[in-house]
Amino acid sequence: MPDVHAAPQSSAETIEDFSRYVIPNYRRYPVCLVRGEGSWVWDAEGRRYLDFFPGWGCNLLGHCPPRIVEAVREQVGQLIHVPNTWYMEAQGAFAKALSERSFGGHCFFCNSGAEANEAAIKLARAWGHAKGRYKLITAEGGFHGRTFAALTATAQPKYQEPFQPLVPGFGHVPYNDLEAVAKLADGQTAAVLVEPIQGEGGVIVPDEDYLPGLRKICDERGMLLILDEVQTGMARTGRWFAYQHSGIEPDILTCAKALAGGIAAGVMMARKEVAAFLQPGLHASTFGGNPIACRGGLATVETIEEEGLLERGIAIGERFRARFEALREEMPDRIKDIRIRGVMIGVDLSFDATAVVSACLGRGLLINATHGHVVRLLPALNLSDEQIDEGCDILADVLREVTP
Ligand SMILES: *Cc1c(COP(=O)(O)O)cnc(C)c1O
Repeated sequence: MPDVHAAPQSSAETIEDFSRYVIPNYRRYPVCLVRGEGSWVWDAEGRRYLDFFPGWGCNLLGHCPPRIVEAVREQVGQLIHVPNTWYMEAQGAFAKALSERSFGGHCFFCNSGAEANEAAIKLARAWGHAKGRYKLITAEGGFHGRTFAALTATAQPKYQEPFQPLVPGFGHVPYNDLEAVAKLADGQTAAVLVEPIQGEGGVIVPDEDYLPGLRKICDERGMLLILDEVQTGMARTGRWFAYQHSGIEPDILTCAKALAGGIAAGVMMARKEVAAFLQPGLHASTFGGNPIACRGGLATVETIEEEGLLERGIAIGERFRARFEALREEMPDRIKDIRIRGVMIGVDLSFDATAVVSACLGRGLLINATHGHVVRLLPALNLSDEQIDEGCDILADVLREVTP
C-alpha cells in the first residue's frame, strides 16, 4: 500500500495506475491535483493553477473552505453515518435551512444530481398515478443526469443513443418555447421538467416570461412544474435558487453540485401536498442526508450569509461581464455572446473552445468548454477581484492568440 502521508507520487505514476485499473469513461487532463485552497489548486509537481471551474461547479466556496472543513472534521469525530431509520439533528436542520430559503417545501436527501432528478421523476409519477398522468415533458439541450430516467429526461441524442430503449413516457420540446409545451401536453402529462438556465447545454438563459409561462401552463392543465437547479441552485446566480429571479415557484425542485460546499449531496424539495405522495417505503437512499453532507450544507449556508456572498456573486459576475464586453468589442468575430447570471458564466465563441481550454491550462488557468463552442466558468463565490483580473488577462491573451 502506498504511504498516503508521504510526498505525493508524480502525476505520471498516478496516470499509470489509472491506465491499469480505472475504467476510462472520462476524458482527463494529464494532471493529478493534490491540494487546493480557495480558487488556487496545486498538482503533484507543485504547479499552481487558478481555478475558474472548481469542482465542476460543486466547490461553490472554492477548495477546502475553512468553515466546511471545520464542520466536517467535527462531524466525522462524532458520527460518520447512520441510516435513515434514525433521526439526526443535522439533516433536520439542513432541511429547515433549505425550506426557509426557498418555497417552504419538504426535503428528500440523496447524493447526486441524477439521484435528485430520479426522485423528482418518481414523485411526479406517484403523484399522477391515480390521475392517469405519467408523462413528462423536458427540453432539448437539457441535462439531468446519467441514470435511466434522468438520461431519458436529458434530450440529447449523443448521451442516449447506445442505451436505447429508454424509459417510456418522456416527450421533448425546444427550450424556451412555451407553445411547444402547450401543444405536447395532454391529459396524461404529469409534469414539465426543465433547468431555469441550461448549464451543460451552453449557459442558455431563457426569456423572462419562460418560467412564468410554464407555471401558467402547468396550473391550467393540472401538471407539476419541476425545476432542475442541480447547477443553478445554492446561490450560483445571486439568489439561493435561480427561480427566485422569476417571480414564480416550482412544485418540485432538485439541487446537488454546490449544495454542500463540495461534499457529495443532493436534494429534492417538494411542496408539502405533493411530497405527501412519497409514502414510507416508496423511495430511499442509504447515504442520503448523512450527517457529514448535512453539516457541509449547513456550513455552506452559514458561510454564504455571514460573508455576504449572494451580493458578492452578483459583483463577481458583473466584473467578468465588464472584462468580456471589452474583449467582445476588440474581437467581435470571435466572441458572439456573453451570458452571465452571478457566478454562472458562458462566453459563446464563433469556434470550438477546446483549444482555448488547453491553452489556458498550459498557462495555469482552469476553465471549461461546453456545447462545443461555449467557454463556461463556474467560479467560487470568494474569488477576489485580483484573481478575476489575473485569470481574465490569461483568457484574453489566449482568445487573441489561439488558432481554432
Ligand atoms: C450536473 C447536473 C446533473 C447531474 O448531476 P450528477 O451529480 O452528476 O448526477 C443534473 N442536472 C443538471 C442541471 C446538472 O448540471
